[in-house]
Amino acid sequence: MEQEIIRLFKASQGSESRDEVQIGIGDDGAILNVSQRETVWVTDTITEGVHFDLDDGTLQQVGRKALAVNLSDIAAMGARPVAALVTLVLPKSMTMGEIKKLAQGMCKMASAFDVAIVGGDTNRHDGPLVVGVAISGTVDVAKAWRLDGARAGDSLLVTGKLGGSILGRHLDFQPRTSLASYVASNYEVHAATDISDSLAVDLGHMVQCSGVSAVLLTDRVPISSDAEKLSMTSQRSALDHALFDGEDFELLLSMSADAASELVADQQARELSGGGIVVIGRVESGSKGAIVDQDGIAIAALGYEH
Ligand SMILES: [Mg+2]
Repeated sequence: MEQEIIRLFKASQGSESRDEVQIGIGDDGAILNVSQRETVWVTDTITEGVHFDLDDGTLQQVGRKALAVNLSDIAAMGARPVAALVTLVLPKSMTMGEIKKLAQGMCKMASAFDVAIVGGDTNRHDGPLVVGVAISGTVDVAKAWRLDGARAGDSLLVTGKLGGSILGRHLDFQPRTSLASYVASNYEVHAATDISDSLAVDLGHMVQCSGVSAVLLTDRVPISSDAEKLSMTSQRSALDHALFDGEDFELLLSMSADAASELVADQQARELSGGGIVVIGRVESGSKGAIVDQDGIAIAALGYEH
């Protein structure tokens, strides 16, 4: 069956391949030539019943998401994706037709984001569907977007609109790789991360790692229409959803105030950002890891826990 699955990935990816891929899917290992630049690796696994439910999403969407969460991490490093390894742990009951749908979702996403699926592994078990992906990318290490580089005086920026991704966006979000490539080549970014757990958690993590604190201007946080919609039934405000919901997969950047103003006004960056880039706060020294709002009230690092 594994051979059949390999053929499936081979066929769905067509004959076009990336320059870096010397030997792709089907051999005991893949061979890439990435000697010109530093290589970055990310990996993320999604599990049925934890990160998705097949009642809410299709298998194509699950395959898409497995790639997308990893591409989001590549973007958050300021890197360009190159190649992916895929590990499938399949329920024994899953048919070849179903596996094909999963593979289609992955291959479509891979080709849209110009990443080659170069290999992987498959297992069967009496349990839920588990899809693990590892993606390599290239980056200039001196310019890579680290988590620990935020400096006092920096502006904090966020892409897109936040909150309420559970209404569907968590399955079909756009990883911000194109924006990241553009910003990485044209601006100096001191620190970055993607918002996977929540704005509060991921910002908390960034300022903690950087040994600084943050003032979050809650009236500037871009709120998605999903957050507004959820707030009508959830007994929580739309802002609360934007601050504390998980799986937005937008980028959070820390850069000098001057660079931030330039980026906010950059038309090309705005077009690549899917809904804009806005300043939502600033970095301050002291109180390592703390986040307060514009009135000095502490914001707890609450978010999505798997
Ligand atoms: Mg991340």
